[in-house]
Amino acid sequence: MDKTSSQSILAQSLEGFAREKLDDLETRSLRRWLAETDRGEGTTAVRRGKDLISFCCNDYLSLSHHPELRRAAIDAIDRYGVGAGASRLVTGNHPLYEELEARLARLKGTEAACVFGSGYLANTGIIPSLMGTGDLIVLDELSHACMHAGSRLSRATIATFAHNDTGDCRRILEAERGKHRRCLLLTEGVFSMDGDLAPLPELSDLAREFDAWLMTDDAHGLGVIGGGRGSRAHWQGRAEVPLQMGTLSKAVGAYGGYLCASQPVIDLIRNRARSFIYTTGLPPAVVAAASAGLDIIEHDPGLAALPVKKARLFTSLMNLPQAESCIVPLVLGDAEKALAASEALFEAGFLVTAIRPPTVPDDTARLRFTFCAGHDDVDIERLASCLRGQGLERVETAP
Ligand SMILES: *Cc1c(COP(=O)(O)O)cnc(C)c1O
Repeated sequence: MDKTSSQSILAQSLEGFAREKLDDLETRSLRRWLAETDRGEGTTAVRRGKDLISFCCNDYLSLSHHPELRRAAIDAIDRYGVGAGASRLVTGNHPLYEELEARLARLKGTEAACVFGSGYLANTGIIPSLMGTGDLIVLDELSHACMHAGSRLSRATIATFAHNDTGDCRRILEAERGKHRRCLLLTEGVFSMDGDLAPLPELSDLAREFDAWLMTDDAHGLGVIGGGRGSRAHWQGRAEVPLQMGTLSKAVGAYGGYLCASQPVIDLIRNRARSFIYTTGLPPAVVAAASAGLDIIEHDPGLAALPVKKARLFTSLMNLPQAESCIVPLVLGDAEKALAASEALFEAGFLVTAIRPPTVPDDTARLRFTFCAGHDDVDIERLASCLRGQGLERVETAP
């Protein structure tokens, strides 16, 4: 076979593979498309030429467009340039990192903090730095994809417990803990697709009883609950959480991930986390903007309280159980049904993307509404009446 024809067979089979996979996703209403979206100030967005009010953005405090974050980012570019130039352990550790990590530790009440390139990178770096072969990771089944990814990378034994079911978690610990060396208990402070909170006091008690380390992913807690300080603050000292991970990409309005923990743990992470060591530092502008976002969160708990307030207006208008966070799911089951509902909302001027498997478990496709400080009560009322008009007010909430 000459070189050209063998290459074309390879190309054919590769493209054939890709097409087959895509066709399969398409027939199950699970294919995804990128939609260009021009997010404006506050909660507005333009998509396909249409002006929309967005109820699906994680920029809960609209800090991504805040004048102080913009100014901080521009000043950082003027002073330090655009790229970080190397990994943080080489020359990428520009002076802005120190302030950001000190702020994070202060806000979370820990000795130290370590900033990563993103929340995804944080979880895939932290978990394998602490756990290995012979260890046990016990995690809530609804934990974010990157917690599952980090767990797998660690080569530890992985066991999942039924969502927020501390009885199931206890059963697993009773059966498995004794067979393993170290144990990590993982959950989300605020569940990203369901909006409910993890029972951290009970999980913290279990961790103590079974000699496990409790780690929370607080991507949707920081800036929103606990006076803006996140889920551990929300539980007012009733939960001991030695490993608090989160992201700077949501309520903080910038980008990046973090771990807040004791000094020795942070020092170990900086020495072992592969997704910290082998990747370039964040652009200075992003780090400066994150610091400015945290500064606003730290000094304005009234602002941080607004998203949950808005979500509660919605749940009361919809006769749903009272929102625990600023995320409210309407589980529709079918992926097709969720897509159709999202499209009908689009026509009415609302941007609410359908969330489908594998982001959520099979048969739990949903509309996921997120509420922001800047949402107008009138728009929330219009959204609720639009949903009621579609007969969507009585669907069950997430299991
Ligand atoms: C968004 C999210 C992440 C990932 O954070 P990024 O900074 O966007 O990579 C991790 N965990 C949870 C629960 C999230 O919702």
